[in-house]
Amino acid sequence: MDLGLQGRNALVCASSKGLGRACAQALAREGVAVTMVARGSEALEQAAAEIRRATGARITTVAADITSQEGQAAALAACPAADILVTNAGGPKPGDFRDWSRDDWIAALDANMLTPIALIRASIDGMISRRFGRIVNITSAAVKAPIDILGLSNGARSGLTGFCAGLARKVVAHNVTINNLLPGPFETDRLLETARQWSRQTGKSQETVLAERRAANPAGRFGSPAEFGDACAWLCSAQAGYMTGQNLLLDGGNYPGTF
Ligand code: NAP
Repeated sequence: MDLGLQGRNALVCASSKGLGRACAQALAREGVAVTMVARGSEALEQAAAEIRRATGARITTVAADITSQEGQAAALAACPAADILVTNAGGPKPGDFRDWSRDDWIAALDANMLTPIALIRASIDGMISRRFGRIVNITSAAVKAPIDILGLSNGARSGLTGFCAGLARKVVAHNVTINNLLPGPFETDRLLETARQWSRQTGKSQETVLAERRAANPAGRFGSPAEFGDACAWLCSAQAGYMTGQNLLLDGGNYPGTF
């Protein structure tokens, strides 16, 4: 299926690794010129070089913290007319809400709610005037089924979800869509780090922790980042203009509800 994206421009945040990188790669494969952002320049340049080699697409890199105002300005300067915006940043720390200060909450809101909103605000009027825009927020399965130790994530990401639900209905008539992709467990550095932490806490080997988590999922496995990237590319496609304001779970069927 030709996704009709040849020649489009995308800003993909937090994309040197994991889910963001997979979105960048899938869009580049469709002929999209991609601006990739991450803090660490070494991994970013390596990922960009690999995607250029694999796809031949034009890839621009911005080594910056996307949650800072300077980082957002640098990313938007490198991609001033984004047709596609994929928002993403690291998830907040786990813990007990009694231990979280106001600063912890502000940091979580900055990363997982206010940064995507600032990038949407800066990009959306250009999308409206060009009559094409696709905004995909990488959120979390925790938006649908909260994870008890991830209260900062549950709260901040739900704020973004509520805001986008309203905005999506105001811009879809201009062929600008806003949707959220909700990852369950995907095999990325972040998932492996969580398994390492759980292994230290429980005394189980990391392999045992991972095997238990795989077995607990109806699919019997973790998602691969490439599956996530492909879903993102389709949501950004020319064909996806009638789908907006949706929260799409990619979790191997882990969420047990009918709806
Ligand atoms: P990952 O493999 O750890 O990759 C994170 C990427 O984001 C890296 O490229 C990292 O590069 C970049 N990044 C992080 N903070 C950044 C910042 N402030 N500014 C710019 N770049 C930043 O993580 P992932 O698994 O892909 O997760 C992506 C998002 O999905 C996270 O919010 C995570 O909480 C959420 N999620 C993931 C899963 C899962 O199973 N993987 C499940 C649910 C939700 P630098 O560190 O160099 O900046």
